Amino acid sequence: GGHEIRALDAMAGRLSFQAALERVAEIGPDLIVSLVGQASLANDLGFFARLKAGFPRARLIVSGDAGFDDTEKLLRENRSIDAVLLDYVSRRWLPYMEKAYDKAADIAFLDGGRYRARRSAPAREYSIGLPRHGLFPYRKYRMPFARALPYAGVATDFGCPFKCGFCLTGRLPYKLRPVAEVVGELEYLKKLGIRYFSFGDQTFGADRQRTENLLSAMIGKGLDLPWACFARADLLDEPAVKLMRRAGCDLAMIGVESGDQGLLDRYGKGLTIGRIREAFALCRRLGIRTVATFILGLPGEIRETAERTVRLALELDPDFASFNAAVAKPLTPLAAEARLRGWLRPGPADQSGSSNLATGNAGPEAVEAWVKKAARRFYLRPGYLMRRLMSMSSFTELGINLAEAAALLRGGTRP
Ligand code: SF4
Repeated sequence: GGHEIRALDAMAGRLSFQAALERVAEIGPDLIVSLVGQASLANDLGFFARLKAGFPRARLIVSGDAGFDDTEKLLRENRSIDAVLLDYVSRRWLPYMEKAYDKAADIAFLDGGRYRARRSAPAREYSIGLPRHGLFPYRKYRMPFARALPYAGVATDFGCPFKCGFCLTGRLPYKLRPVAEVVGELEYLKKLGIRYFSFGDQTFGADRQRTENLLSAMIGKGLDLPWACFARADLLDEPAVKLMRRAGCDLAMIGVESGDQGLLDRYGKGLTIGRIREAFALCRRLGIRTVATFILGLPGEIRETAERTVRLALELDPDFASFNAAVAKPLTPLAAEARLRGWLRPGPADQSGSSNLATGNAGPEAVEAWVKKAARRFYLRPGYLMRRLMSMSSFTELGINLAEAAALLRGGTRP
């Protein structure tokens, strides 16, 4: 038989635990799929316990970075969680819904106490059909830096082919969504009234030929919507940026990470500072706004290297900068190194300010102070605010930008 799907976005609705539980009670689900995050793990687990107590017959499946760390331990220690999705774009976990456990893959669960976590063989492509944005309160969604609302996010790939040592995404299997499927979703979003979107891909354009096909199809269909993406400086050469611009690209969020070449090399970023400078200059020349994202507090960071990072941010002079505390994330070489050397600090970590690393050079408090100071030095420059105001094209944009500026000054935010 079929399944009726209902979506509940408790964050967008600003629902308390109690209000969220009441909404779940109205739905009366047989199966619940929830996000789980490392940054909010204690909170999430508290909610799951109450959810399970209130709805003992509904199986609870979770998906998110916290599920990657030690999945078996998460399941054994939190009996409110029935299963963890290992790959949320896979469809091969669906037999789990029908309790056909032997056929299910890409999902981890305990079967009579036995841990099961069968994974699919790596694939080059994946399909998720047409995501049902209309099920969600999409009109409430905001994206920092968006020029218009309503806004929506669209994924064209999963994982990343690069392997930066601090990044979880690079550890996930890289696979692509068919171009026609992505374009179909964009056309549907336009009909839904979406006026700005961002590609959720962590490295937009990683597969050059396929990106050309996608952008050409967007131009060919006359999509004509502004959009944002995450990008790598070495993929932003002139032909690529020109085509992106023609296809509507408004904003590139570029991972710079550090102003210190030694730290970039140590963590396998595979970029030179010279190449980073060129990418920002090119975007400016071709009319694409930029966000530079930085990490402060990677092991090896000292006051001088942090200073180099702030100076590079000021020199690149992007439209926005996002300064983040280094966080050791599951599956990364950084986490393995930190575990080995005893640098891991227990408790929640959040790249917007609190690191889970305590190295000999810098403790979490020093890193937090660097992050705050860097944001202040970038945003509180004389003339910066005036330039931002001059470049805005509408009151909607002004409102979004003021909210974003407030968040950036409270601590870094990585979109
Ligand atoms: S930091 Fe960016 S380029 Fe590097 S692995 Fe992560 S997503 Fe890929």
